[in-house]
Amino acid sequence: MRATVMFGAGDVRVEQVPDSTIKLPTDALVRITGACICGSDLWPYASRTPEDAPARVGHEFVGIVEDTGTEVTAVKKGDLVVAPFAISDGTCQFCREGLQTSCEHPQAAFWDMIPDEGAQAEAIRVPLADGTLVKLPVAPDSALVPSLLTLSDVLGTGHHATVAGGVNKRTRVTVIGDGAVGLLAVLSAKRMGAEQIILMGRHPARTELGREFGATDIVSGRGEEGIAQVRDLTGGDGTHVVIEAVGTMPAYQQALGIVRPGGVVSRVGAPQYEEAPIGFGSLFRHNLRLAGGPAPVRAYIEELMPDILDGTIEPGKVFDMTTDLGGIAAGYRDMADRKALKVLIKP
Ligand SMILES: [Zn+2]
Repeated sequence: MRATVMFGAGDVRVEQVPDSTIKLPTDALVRITGACICGSDLWPYASRTPEDAPARVGHEFVGIVEDTGTEVTAVKKGDLVVAPFAISDGTCQFCREGLQTSCEHPQAAFWDMIPDEGAQAEAIRVPLADGTLVKLPVAPDSALVPSLLTLSDVLGTGHHATVAGGVNKRTRVTVIGDGAVGLLAVLSAKRMGAEQIILMGRHPARTELGREFGATDIVSGRGEEGIAQVRDLTGGDGTHVVIEAVGTMPAYQQALGIVRPGGVVSRVGAPQYEEAPIGFGSLFRHNLRLAGGPAPVRAYIEELMPDILDGTIEPGKVFDMTTDLGGIAAGYRDMADRKALKVLIKP
């Protein structure tokens, strides 16, 4: 079968690889019908060295179950399913608490940690299929599929940012970052009823979609300039919640400059740093809290799916380019160059 392999920075190719097959009774084999390039794929795309071993990539997909191991009961051959970016058993203490990204099962993992599987491919072996996969109640060619595909990561991650930040009807929210996660954090904040939603971003096509998703204000400035603009929009106070959907130190520092005393910085952009200011002059002085982490998107699928099925939300609007596997290298390039917001792959 064909699958996407990342060889080094800027070097992504479609290769012939051994067919994915069932290996364990708890596995399912899924024929992939829709996958994505994620903003987080751009970090290794920018930084891998030739010394790193080539790696399979892709952690968001929908597809049709082709085969199941003998112990799989939740899905069956022919089902259209969506998979979160993390594999989980659904039964351990953390899964039961809705923190499937911390699943204790030995086979629990993020797709990006599994060397011989990846979602930007024709097929994939899904470990712990009963805990991981969710059946989608639509036909594979339904117009809702792109929106349902966002349940695998970006919608659930945007939603998680609002849950971790404690967004409610009395909340003012700033979202830093106009990538797919930032825009879907805007949509999620709107869905939670946030009073004011300020989107910080500088790509007009994206901030326009942000407005459509519910942003009340757009701030294009960065750093001190951006902080001052948000302060102007909030009577000098800043916002109760700042969602940081980028992952860089400047974005973290920007969040600290914007958050209201007593407020929360909720991070869902994978941090590209280990050390950051948390002391008296940054977090402590004004009782600021730091929240967020990898979104347990599996926990949110049942809650978010009905809003997609009835048309209340249309998160699939983040896809502005569609390609087959043959166009994947161009897809990575266009996302890295910010020409594409998010690329939908139909293998
Ligand atoms: Zn678990």
